[in-house]
Amino acid sequence: MSEIVIAGGGAAGMFCAAYASELGHRVTIAEHNEKLGKKLFITGKGRCNFTNHCPPEEFLAHVLTNSRFLYSAAYGLTPDDVIACFERWGLPSKTERGRRVFPVSDHSSDVIAAMERVLRKNRVKVLLHTEAVRIVTADGAVTGLAVKRGDAESILPADYVVIACGGLSYPSTGSTGDGYLLAKAAGHTVTATSPSLVPIVCEGEYIRQMQGLSLKNVSLTISDGRRVLFSEQGEMMFTHFGITGPLVLSASAVMGDRIGRGALVSVIDLKPALTEEQLDGRIIRIVNENPNKALKNILHELYPQKMHAVILSLAGIAPDTKLHDLTKPMRAELVRVTKHFPLTLAALRGYNEAVVTKGGVSVKEIDPRSMQSRKVKGLCFIGEVLDLDAFTGGYNLQIAWCTAAACAEHFS
Ligand SMILES: Cc1cc2nc3c(=O)[nH]c(=O)nc-3n(C[C@H](O)[C@H](O)[C@H](O)COP(=O)(O)OP(=O)(O)OC[C@H]3O[C@@H](n4cnc5c(N)ncnc54)[C@H](O)[C@@H]3O)c2cc1C
Repeated sequence: MSEIVIAGGGAAGMFCAAYASELGHRVTIAEHNEKLGKKLFITGKGRCNFTNHCPPEEFLAHVLTNSRFLYSAAYGLTPDDVIACFERWGLPSKTERGRRVFPVSDHSSDVIAAMERVLRKNRVKVLLHTEAVRIVTADGAVTGLAVKRGDAESILPADYVVIACGGLSYPSTGSTGDGYLLAKAAGHTVTATSPSLVPIVCEGEYIRQMQGLSLKNVSLTISDGRRVLFSEQGEMMFTHFGITGPLVLSASAVMGDRIGRGALVSVIDLKPALTEEQLDGRIIRIVNENPNKALKNILHELYPQKMHAVILSLAGIAPDTKLHDLTKPMRAELVRVTKHFPLTLAALRGYNEAVVTKGGVSVKEIDPRSMQSRKVKGLCFIGEVLDLDAFTGGYNLQIAWCTAAACAEHFS
């Protein structure tokens, strides 16, 4: 049995500790926060969407970066296995829309509590207020992890050191990028990082006029002029800086660094269920039923209140235009703005609002079966610190669980 020291007591670190301790290893977690699982606590709006109940190949299809690297881990611990594992640890779950899995209690704290019970039962040493500062090596192999508690530094001897420090998103939860520094100091490559699953800043005063407006069942399409990068239907919201909501977070994950260089064309289809002809037909019907009304007085039949002035301004039609004066080109403008509502994407918001970090420890230097470093014997990386990220829907936590399990299963 081996001596395992894990840097970081978040999702991946706790799961790895629980799993390895069940296999009989001696495990210590060094966590610099005052408690374990601070980020887990806020996941899924406090309900923790801890996996997606799909087959492993579909999980992999939702992984955006380096999905091939995850192949072995994804089949090693499938979403089915995760659900069964948490059930065994005393956490019943339920599956909701989009196969998102939550604890029956709707409390993320119960996911943390389930793992903490295993840690206690198997006498895993949990060192809080303890910061991992250095990986200690000799002859190309780890011998321990240097940690700091207050001003005192000490070395935790280890056969395996697991870096589970997360990325840079939501730094208030403790993920401040230390994992990247530790990896670099150990000779690992860290690919460029950027916020992902994050709200988007948009240009244009008209966006701010719609602040607080939430749109359901609209379709957002983003292209780079040559090909469509993203096109999905769902929910989004306007804010004081731009746009957010599930649709927007997903869109943010596919843009890379193309945003803000004027390279992206982004439009909302406000009526995706109608073709342009059907929408025009609907406008004609409204006109015929209300020929003497002003356009501004029938817009509620087509758009939410906060969009009225914006739509008319973008279509270049005076609000007081009587419907019997609405010409065919005017109708065509209304249809155009409705089906191709323009957005000018300026930038992604920062790590403070990002669900995950894109980029991280290069997977080229990691063995995909065991998550062990190819450079330093006994050094492992799991979870978000790796150059892996996925769409929302429970897939990112599935990355944390399956990389943690792959790692735990390969301790000798
Ligand atoms: C608001 C929000 C909601 C989310 N909701 C979901 C969801 O519902 N479903 C989903 O699948 N994913 C969700 N995610 C993503 C998910 O939380 C992450 O993918 C996951 O937590 C990554 O796990 P991790 O263990 O790698 O990193 P983390 O959970 O970030 O854990 C890293 C831990 O390491 C500790 N640490 C860092 N540096 C050091 C150091 N030097 N010494 C000691 N400890 C250190 C940190 O304090 C932290 O506890 C959400 C993320 C956010 C921000």
